[in-house]
Amino acid sequence: MSNANAELASAYQTILSVIEKVEPRIAEATRQELVDQRESLKLIASENYASLPVLATMGTWFSDKYAEGTVGHRFYAACQNVDTVESVAAEHARALFGAEYAYVQPHSGIDANLVAYWAILAQRIESPALEKLGAKTVNDLSEADWETLRKTFGEQRVMGMSLDAGGHLTHGFRHNISGKMFHQRSYGTDPETQLIDYDKLRADAREFKPLILIAGYSAYPRRVNFATMREIADEVGATLLVDMAHFAGLVAGKVFTGDEDPVPHAHVVTTTTHKSLRGPRGGMVLAKQEFAGAVDRGCPMVLGGPLSHMMAAKAVALAEARTQEFQTYAQNVADNAKALAEGFLKRGQKLVTGGTDNHLVLLDVGQYGLTGRQAESALLDAGVVSNRNSVPQDPNGAWYTTGVRLGTPALTSRGFGAEDFDRVAELIVDVLTNTSANPTASGAPGKAKYTIADGVAERTKAAAGEMLTAHPLYPGLEL
Ligand code: PLP
Repeated sequence: MSNANAELASAYQTILSVIEKVEPRIAEATRQELVDQRESLKLIASENYASLPVLATMGTWFSDKYAEGTVGHRFYAACQNVDTVESVAAEHARALFGAEYAYVQPHSGIDANLVAYWAILAQRIESPALEKLGAKTVNDLSEADWETLRKTFGEQRVMGMSLDAGGHLTHGFRHNISGKMFHQRSYGTDPETQLIDYDKLRADAREFKPLILIAGYSAYPRRVNFATMREIADEVGATLLVDMAHFAGLVAGKVFTGDEDPVPHAHVVTTTTHKSLRGPRGGMVLAKQEFAGAVDRGCPMVLGGPLSHMMAAKAVALAEARTQEFQTYAQNVADNAKALAEGFLKRGQKLVTGGTDNHLVLLDVGQYGLTGRQAESALLDAGVVSNRNSVPQDPNGAWYTTGVRLGTPALTSRGFGAEDFDRVAELIVDVLTNTSANPTASGAPGKAKYTIADGVAERTKAAAGEMLTAHPLYPGLEL
């Protein structure tokens, strides 16, 4: 731990004692959250531990500043320092990912996707329509023309990965606005291999002719060939949108290169900044220059005023991600996921797609007669934090599920290596082997409780505790 971090560690003690004087329950919950995160095996694939400099950057007076608009073109006065922050963050993002354009304002991944959808609609539908009607902006349209344009927006199609194959709900799922504002069709995975079937995807895209083809996932344990996705998009006249929220850290760390790097291939790339990228909570849009103007309209089109303190923290995290140290981290994330998968496979476990080559593993717990929900709860009782997840064609549906998703970004940040992850697999198998479902009279899978054999949760916690002590979180930070 560097000196800077040691100073920050003591600063946090002061900060907590100040907060305590105003609202002690919040100070206490903040302290307890650190204890809980320190004492559990955090395997949620979308979580990480941001550095203390990133965390500290979030807590400043930039939070107090309004700055709607873009750099040098704000609807508020006195934005010169926010301009610096936004420019530096965008500069790091462009350099890190080799992107033509970067927009760092989105408050979250969902917001980044909304910005992307509206930017693509603006570029592909609104601009040509205005041009045809000889109008500069929608304000120049007659009521009738505006009505036609609105209808045209509502007729567009998107195609994204289905939820049970690992896609995200913002990729056209019916309970998300993306599934309501667009006609949607999803692509799944091959029923045998559970891998993306590009030939089938191509045939479906030819038939459906989406305006937007979405690639990217939340729970697919494999890499995607973005060159092929772009080829399919071009063939059917679609804009390729890649949502790299989950694997942005592996792109930043140059683990995914060539056809596996979405940035050179996609028209628009969206991401979160807080998962494998290890930054503050937030989102970002990268785009080819032709979409830059439309993306810049994100605020006020779908975003409120930018969160300047979060943009500042994004800049710090992106600067960290441009180091050799981060590249080593990203490679370790992928190597550790492999070790975790191998640890499961050698102990007779069933993994979706039979393994992994990214940062996550999807364990099928059906063989234990457990739902994902029961497995998630039993693991939590034993100090293992994971989350339940659908498997392809999940017989238990999206709430109870049959899978448990496990990711390596967080524990890799603590310094866990391949041997540790093999041990993690061993502990998880021990818990699941010793957990049984207690079916209720109705037989509803989620209503059935579970029983863990005596002593198993305790021995798992003790074993996990040894590993966690060997790889401390924020060493020197005592609250
Ligand atoms: N896109 C993908 C692929 C995700 O996995 C997620 C988060 O789970 C999101 C978008 C949404 O991110 P956020 O929770 O920051 O809105």
